[in-house]
Amino acid sequence: MSIDYDVAVVGAGPIGLAAAILIARQAGIPSSRVVVFDRHPPEPLGTNPPPMDLRVFALSRASEKILRAADAWTDIAATRAEPFERMQVWHADVPPHGGDALVFDAAELGERNLGVIAENAVLQAALAGAARRAGIALVAAEITALEQERDAVVLIAGERRVRVKLVIGADGAQSRVRELAGLKAARADYGQTAIVAMVSTARPHEHTAWQRFLGDGTLAFLPLKDAHSSIVWSVPTARAERLLATAPEVFERELESDFDGALGKVKLASERLKFPLWRLSADAYVTARVALVGDAAHVVHPLAGQGANLELLDAAALADVLAEGVKSREDPGAERILRRYERWRRAENDLMSGAIDAFDRLLARGTGRIAGIAQRGMPWVGRSTLAKRLFIERAMGTAGELPAAAR
Ligand SMILES: Cc1cc2nc3c(=O)[nH]c(=O)nc-3n(C[C@H](O)[C@H](O)[C@H](O)COP(=O)(O)OP(=O)(O)OC[C@H]3O[C@@H](n4cnc5c(N)ncnc54)[C@H](O)[C@@H]3O)c2cc1C
Repeated sequence: MSIDYDVAVVGAGPIGLAAAILIARQAGIPSSRVVVFDRHPPEPLGTNPPPMDLRVFALSRASEKILRAADAWTDIAATRAEPFERMQVWHADVPPHGGDALVFDAAELGERNLGVIAENAVLQAALAGAARRAGIALVAAEITALEQERDAVVLIAGERRVRVKLVIGADGAQSRVRELAGLKAARADYGQTAIVAMVSTARPHEHTAWQRFLGDGTLAFLPLKDAHSSIVWSVPTARAERLLATAPEVFERELESDFDGALGKVKLASERLKFPLWRLSADAYVTARVALVGDAAHVVHPLAGQGANLELLDAAALADVLAEGVKSREDPGAERILRRYERWRRAENDLMSGAIDAFDRLLARGTGRIAGIAQRGMPWVGRSTLAKRLFIERAMGTAGELPAAAR
């Protein structure tokens, strides 16, 4: 039976789209042999900027390079993206502007910035435009079943059946592809909910990404255009529910207090969204002719702003191993190739996920003796050039083995 496509990506979120484009541009698989399915595929950016999306990402320098390689960066940078030049992290037990805050400065590292704050919808639309320019088909369809044959996988969406050599599951944390392919995932609830909103502040944000560990969670202020900031306020779910239901003025006062007044008076400038938080890791990222990327493979706590950054590295790494396979005339769905991707990215993701988890348990919410030592150790990290360098290299995505698109 004939093969319809070499590669089918399920999910046109930022990670699925990036994977499809990098595979078509860099892995030697023609774009006419790559297809992306999504229930609601995003539209490319039009002449008018899209409405503001409250879901924003702090994109690392490595992510910038990957998105450049995917031909999406120019559009992202031109649509309300805001570079951040500093990161300031401190614990509720120390004052915000005292010497004990941990500060990372782009200038200290000889870089122009540490990354860029960009909206999820802008990322998706810019990548949808790049996919269209590359000639990749973006199809509106919900995948409901999958049949694994020896030489192909059949994807089923309603009456439609599509035979492909490789399926990439990029369909988010509740991945249907993961479930249909029989891949299990370990999931742990953090018992926290992140509140996301846009605010204005009395004092300028100074192009700084601010983060305060609270004792019961974490609060981040990420700089946006026009003196606005995006907040990600991760607190126990019962408190989050109360904060979401409370009047804006009460919410603003509690927010100011949790932020220790670091940017003065705060005013809500949008609705408030909520994201229940959990950690997830698929037991395996690959099986016969199926590979998982993005939230389908792993979900981390947002406190370090690393989820999408790690996942863009996954997408680029998968394109690299497929490129090597194509060069040696291997079948792109061959498990031997896919295992290479899993070995490469799983180790890195597990390391980061464990570290982020430890930040949450010790720095954000810890109360015991060990947590106290970790919290008091933060200023030490700030004073040690080596420790600082190790932290910042991870945050910028320049540590570890980098895929070609991120170099
Ligand atoms: C509060 C919060 C703050 C965050 N902040 C940051 C940050 O600062 N920096 C960072 O790097 N990361 C951050 N993240 C993480 C980031 O949001 C995720 O890593 C990223 O959104 C995952 O993208 P994805 O493409 O894997 O999945 P998604 O964006 O969920 O896309 C999945 C797509 O699959 C489609 N789909 C699903 N099922 C099917 C099906 N059966 N058939 C067809 N299509 C299907 C959906 O329609 C959707 O378009 C944050 C996360 C949260 C919750």
